[in-house]
Amino acid sequence: MKKILFTWLISSFILSCGTSSKSTNTVQKAEAINPSVYASTITAEELKEMLYKYASDEFEGRETGEKGQKMAVEYLKTQYQSMDIPTPLGDDDYFQEVPLEKQSVSTATFSIDGQTFKNFEDHIVLRASGNTQISVDDIVYVGYGIDADNYSDYKSIDVKDKIVLAKAGEPKDDNGNYVTSGEAGDTKWTNGRQSLSSKRDAASANGAKGLILLDSNMFSRYAPYFQRQAESGATGRLSLKSSEPEMMMLLINDNTAKSLHASILEDSTPKVLNSDLTIAIENKSETITSENVVAYIKGSEKPDEIIVISAHLDHEGIKNGQVYNGADDDGSGTIAILEIAEAFKMAEKAGHGPKRSVLFLHVTGEEKGLLGSRHYTDNDPIFPLANTVADLNIDMIGRIDPNRKSGNRNYIYLIGSDKLSTELHNISEEVNSKYTNVELDYTYNDENDPNRFYYRSDHYNFAKNNIPVIFYFNGTHADYHKPSDTPDKIEYDLLENRTKLVFHTAWELANRANRIIADKAE
Ligand SMILES: [Zn+2]
Repeated sequence: MKKILFTWLISSFILSCGTSSKSTNTVQKAEAINPSVYASTITAEELKEMLYKYASDEFEGRETGEKGQKMAVEYLKTQYQSMDIPTPLGDDDYFQEVPLEKQSVSTATFSIDGQTFKNFEDHIVLRASGNTQISVDDIVYVGYGIDADNYSDYKSIDVKDKIVLAKAGEPKDDNGNYVTSGEAGDTKWTNGRQSLSSKRDAASANGAKGLILLDSNMFSRYAPYFQRQAESGATGRLSLKSSEPEMMMLLINDNTAKSLHASILEDSTPKVLNSDLTIAIENKSETITSENVVAYIKGSEKPDEIIVISAHLDHEGIKNGQVYNGADDDGSGTIAILEIAEAFKMAEKAGHGPKRSVLFLHVTGEEKGLLGSRHYTDNDPIFPLANTVADLNIDMIGRIDPNRKSGNRNYIYLIGSDKLSTELHNISEEVNSKYTNVELDYTYNDENDPNRFYYRSDHYNFAKNNIPVIFYFNGTHADYHKPSDTPDKIEYDLLENRTKLVFHTAWELANRANRIIADKAE
């Protein structure tokens, strides 16, 4: 990065402050923290230079957990180190580990009183944590396995650390209505996918070690699909690896169920059953490590209050031999953060560091389902969420939406700015008209927008925790999620303007006297 110019700008500025007379000190002091000086360090040239590197083929499309993503995080770390911006994790640890799992179908060796049963014909493993070995001589039958306020199959029997057997369905009362609702319509216990998770949660909440569920309908729906998945070796989506071991759950058919309890279809009374049961689950899910990159500038007056500036560092990787460069998505946001960080650092060096702390958060796994940001907010917030003032999230700010080609090209879509904090929205507007004059377009801020952009990038994980957010976005285009999203197509002058807008907004949030209020928080 070219820093010579900025050093000159700042030192000449300090010089002019130093020569002012005492009587105009207050005004001078106000001018001394004019953020435009630092915003001017954000330039199209630097953004371009960095993005050509970050979105080059060398980075292999930055797919989560793959080599290209590892190169991306190393690149970011090196940038922060060269700018002398520290990590909140201490030492040289700029990486927040995000444990992920690539799910595969698990199989089980399953026998009852010496008789063995077959995967996909007699039983399927719905859930398991790691490899599980279970050998017991009794299990607890809990009828329908329902645990609702007004009806519970668990109320008279202890299932702590036991394997529980239950069956599908929900009993009806004398009027022919379901017992948990007193109505004729299906409840969450009656059937289908929702009943599987309801019954699983009930067993787990009562302390069971595992649930074996007889559900012939779901079994015949799932078994062929699970078998195909297992035989092809296909893996499912990446997901966050949960820190808690998951309770085992097997789905079985009538035949298998009758070997455990011959009259299971007629009898619904909870009881202990004596059966020798062995289950050995082979879990083929693969653990993958990925990382968020974090750097921060500590606040000079209110260091415990945090402004987060986020962008996702990952993209789609290589498919069919083609690199998905992701220059706009989200190389543009990533590089924008680096420039914003540099501007804050220049200010700090000149004695004008932010009053509140500013966290530069580069999240992984966005393209796999906002995984890195969810890990940050749900599992491991480096700073308490209660102290987190706002998240300014940047995802695609280097292009022009074809729908806007005829109008003012110097625009940006803002999403979410008024959802939780009126003050945030007003600050964003004021700062823009004072410093940047980008046209703020709220087309996609509509709750009912069918694109649902509000839910589709990393800010959402902050917003769901009542932390005010602004999502900066240029809209989609023909190269969106295509190998043709390359750095030569970026409009660098617009990227500069939009980056400056985020910087000025962050500056105001970090330096204003009072923390913004989330007046619309739920
Ligand atoms: Zn994106």
